[in-house]
This record gives sequence, C-alpha cells and structure tokens, in this order.
Amino acid sequence: MILLNSGSITKVSGPLVVASGMREANMFDVVRVSEQRLIGEIIEMRGDRASIQVYEETSGLRTGEAVFSTGEPLSVELGPGLIGGIFDGIQRPLEEIMKIAGNNLTRGIEVPALSREKEWKFTPCVNVGDTVVGGDVLGTVQETEVVLHKIMVPPTMKGVVREISEGTCTVEDTIAILEDGNGNPLTIGLMQKWPVRKGRPYARKLAPKMPLVTGQRVIDALFPIAKGGVAAIPGPFGSGKTVTQHQLAKWAEADIVVYIGCGERGNEMTDVLGEFPELIDPHTGKSLMERTVLIANTSDMPVAAREASIYTGITIAEYFRDMGYSVALMADSTSRWAEALREMSGRLEEMPGEEGYPAYLGSRLAQFYERAGRVESIGTTPREGALSVIGAVSPAGGDISEPVSQATLRIVKVFWGLDSALAYKRHFPAINWLTSYSLYASSLGEWFNTNVDADWTELRARIMQMLSREAELEEIVKLVGMDALSPTDRLTMEAARSVREDFLHQLAFHEIDTYTSLKKQLLMMRLVVGFYDKANACLAEGGDIEKIVNMPVREDIGRFKYVEEADIDTAYEEISAALDAQLAAAKEREDD
Ligand code: ADP
Repeated sequence: MILLNSGSITKVSGPLVVASGMREANMFDVVRVSEQRLIGEIIEMRGDRASIQVYEETSGLRTGEAVFSTGEPLSVELGPGLIGGIFDGIQRPLEEIMKIAGNNLTRGIEVPALSREKEWKFTPCVNVGDTVVGGDVLGTVQETEVVLHKIMVPPTMKGVVREISEGTCTVEDTIAILEDGNGNPLTIGLMQKWPVRKGRPYARKLAPKMPLVTGQRVIDALFPIAKGGVAAIPGPFGSGKTVTQHQLAKWAEADIVVYIGCGERGNEMTDVLGEFPELIDPHTGKSLMERTVLIANTSDMPVAAREASIYTGITIAEYFRDMGYSVALMADSTSRWAEALREMSGRLEEMPGEEGYPAYLGSRLAQFYERAGRVESIGTTPREGALSVIGAVSPAGGDISEPVSQATLRIVKVFWGLDSALAYKRHFPAINWLTSYSLYASSLGEWFNTNVDADWTELRARIMQMLSREAELEEIVKLVGMDALSPTDRLTMEAARSVREDFLHQLAFHEIDTYTSLKKQLLMMRLVVGFYDKANACLAEGGDIEKIVNMPVREDIGRFKYVEEADIDTAYEEISAALDAQLAAAKEREDD
C-alpha cells in the first residue's frame, strides 16, 4: 500500500481526528494517522480539512503529527479464507492479531485479512479462448467441507481467457489472465477487493417469494421471513435474543451465515467468540464455523469500529450471494452501531436529531437493509442468490418508542417482538404474537399452500384469530372472573392456551423440539385447530365443557411436539382418532 504524506493533525477528540492539508484526499479514503499508523477513514471533508473516524485508540496523539492518505476507500478482501474467519470491524483477523500482539490489540498493527501463506486447490471451469464478463465463475475452491467457494471475475472486468491455471495456489497467485478489448492483459487471483460502503452489483432484484424456513414454529407459521427479506428482533436483556439468533444461525435454510457482533456489553462479544465455534451445524454434524464468518468488535476497540463492522459484514455476505448462495446475516445489535454513529455525529458537531442521534440515522439504516434481497447475479449465466438480514435491536428498558427501534421498524418487513414478560413466564421463544408482524405473510402464503399444504394460510389465519380472541377474553376475565365465561368462551380460552403451549412454545435445547419441519408444523396446527373446531361442534350438540377440557387426548396433543419426525403421521392419526372418540364420550349424558 502506498502512503501519501498528506496532512497533519489539528484536533483530536476521542475517535475523531481532524487534519488539515488534506486537499488531495477524498471522502471515505482510508488514512493512517501518525507514525503509529492508526487506521482511520475520512467521514467529512471541508476544504483541506478532513474529519477522520479512527478505528483504534487515539490517546496520546498530538496535534501536528502526520496523517497519511492511502487514496483508497475502506475495502474488504474477498476470497478463500473468509469462512471460519473471525474478523474485527475492519476485517483484521482477530486470531492472527492475538498471536502477534497477545490479548491487547497493539495499535497500527497490520495483518492481511486473508492468509497469504495458506494454499488452496483451484479447479477451473473455463477454457482458454472463452469470453467471460464480470460475475462469471472461473473455477472453484473447496473452502471447507460444506462450502464450495466460486472464484468469480471481478464485477468491473471482462475479456477473453488467455491463461487459466489449475492446482494449489495462494490468494495472491495469478489463476487467470484475461485479455481485454484493447489487447491488454488482466490478471485475476483467488482474491478480489471491494469497497465496503458500496453495494456489490447484481443484475436485478427478484421478488421475495419463498420463505427462509427456520424450523422455529412461531416464525415459520405466524411471522415468516422471506429469503432475501429483512427482519428486526428487539430484545430486552434476558428475553432470548441470543438463543433466537443462535437457533436461526443453526437452522435457517442458509448456506452461509455472517454474524456481526457490534459489541453489546463488554464481555458479551467474548461470549459469541467462545460460543459460536462450539455450535454444531445440525445438517452436517460439524462445527457451524464451517459455513460461518464472524465479525466481532472486542471491547477494547473504540466504538467507531462498530460503525464499519456492519458494512464489512454485509459486503462479505453480498459476495457469497453473488456465488448463488442463500446467505443469512445477523447483526447484533444495530443499536450499538447507531450509538457509534451518534458519538461521531456529536463530535462532528452536527445538528442532533431525536435523542441526540443524527438526522440521517434512518437513511443510514435504510441503506444497510437495502443491501439485502433475493437477486439474480451479474454474469453470462446468472445465478440466483439471497441475502436475508436479521437485525437485533436493543432498546434501553425494552421501550421500542426510541429512535433506533422506530427507524428500524419503518424499514424492515418482519418484526419479532421479544417480550420480557413472556420470558419471565418462561414462554420461549418469547416472541409476542400480538405485537409481532410479518409483511411477507400474505405473499409467502401461496408458497406454503403450494409446497406444504393448501390449508396452510387458512390454519395460520385461524390461529391468529384464536390468539387475538384470547386477548379480548382475558380482559373480560380480569373484570368478571373465569367462572362468568360462557362454555364457548371458556373453550376458546382453552384452545388458545393449547395454541400457545402446544404449538408456539418451543424449547431450543430439546433434541427434537429444537427444529420442526414444515410438515410437522402443519400437523400441529391441524391438531390444535382441529381440537377447537370439533370441541365447538361437540358443545353445540350438548357436550359437557368440563369433560371436554379434561379429555386425556389434550395431553397427547401437547406432547406431539416431542414425537420424532419419522413417527408424526402415525401419531397424528392416533391422536385424531382418540380426539373423536373422547369427544363422542363428552356428549354422553351421565344418566345414559
Ligand atoms: P438475551 O440474549 O436476550 O439477553 P438469552 O438469549 O441469553 O437472552 O436468553 C436468556 C435465557 O432464556 C436463556 O439462557 C435460556 O435459558 C432461555 N431461553 C431463551 N430462548 C429460549 C428457547 N427458545 N428455548 C429455551 N430456552 C430459552
């Protein structure tokens, strides 16, 4: 990297450094501050004065020290070696750094993001003489047992393949030489670079028509997220945010998971670093890291680095989407990222908006979430890939009227409202069914009806009705007591309880309950709705409410979630038969 000596420090204010004499530099250029070479990025230019967001501790910097410009925007390295990697917000490999510098990040340290020594086996899939354009796949590298890394022509290049190699090489070796329209050679390696603040190009966006199946019943059945969709999950402390994110990382239909930890509380990131590599990928039985990229801001990094981390993460995610993969990105938490924005904005002395957040908070969040989506890649034979984004929000005290939650809600299409009251009652996942929503629910309905069962949307609607009716009745019960309810209302309450306890409640740590196939979800919905309808009919025909609510078959409905996948059809038939028989008995009069 060439460093141009361009200016000198005139002011230091926490992570913000102002330098004059920077006429040559551009907005968003990466700079190195002082002889210590601290990494920073220009976030504002006024004449020859640059305001620099420094990603390392700035204590000890003095005015007059030199600032060097690199003339390049903040970029990430994209190539084999990403998977399984743990990087900081500006893609420095944490493990490598720790090896060199111990536990404390020494400032100005320079380690390349992707290992320069590691050798990869490259298998080409094009021939000399082929014409290729940006996005075309030149060959593949088996990066981990589960991830086949496709080496693509960088978006801006095209030409005729003049040379293509096969065999082992490092990320810096040349694997192909193209000849462009003017007869100039273009060399291509396993690695390409991309500026993080710029979305990678794609041919066109596709409508989000299929769900990102997660195996989590409250999500798939009630508040589904589309492949390529965006969801927010606000989580007050202890409400199950981490468990839910882990469940999604493990079970969601994603080939690649990118997890961005924006540094929640001090030690929380260390938890992620410790926990994630221990998670087992249920599909392969191997470590989840075999298809995961972790971006982590450790607590000793200044807040400014959080700001970069979500861009670093989403650029890596887009790169895998370009390969035609389904990628799930989780950002935990966007509130911490927004706080970093607020801090910088304050130091820049910008006009503060609500609660001190900058007025552009909403548009920045929107720019981030907009990079999600199901797309058709560029290239001669387009691939279809999806990038689904799940952003955790951590509003103080769980109050979502604050600016970050509100700005997020305006953008995302799915809202899983974690509720500390439910978590307190140990109803997990503590996703509140009355406040949560999914704007994809209706557009995905057709997919569920076609691919699972024609009854799916009807059952979903019935369940939502039962739950909202329960909430109404609860108000009445509060006033007049349960005994005052009519038998039909009492039955509604009982049936809704069954929906909550037998269907929505799902234990992440139970071997079978942790994941539920869509087929099983369907049967479960049929059981709980079936009980309600048949019991209602039975009541109308003179059935006894006490007998109905105390039928032993209700226990079996409750235990259906623990039935192994292979046995669900038989179990379903048995329970249905038992239900009919016991309801018939509930109609018999004592004196018959
Ligand atoms: P947060 O990250 O919001 O502070 P956690 O995800 O750590 O909260 O959850 C707190 C506790 O709640 C967990 O330790 C676990 O015992 C319980 N919990 C949360 N979700 C589930 C779930 N789906 N199944 C079982 N237990 C859960």
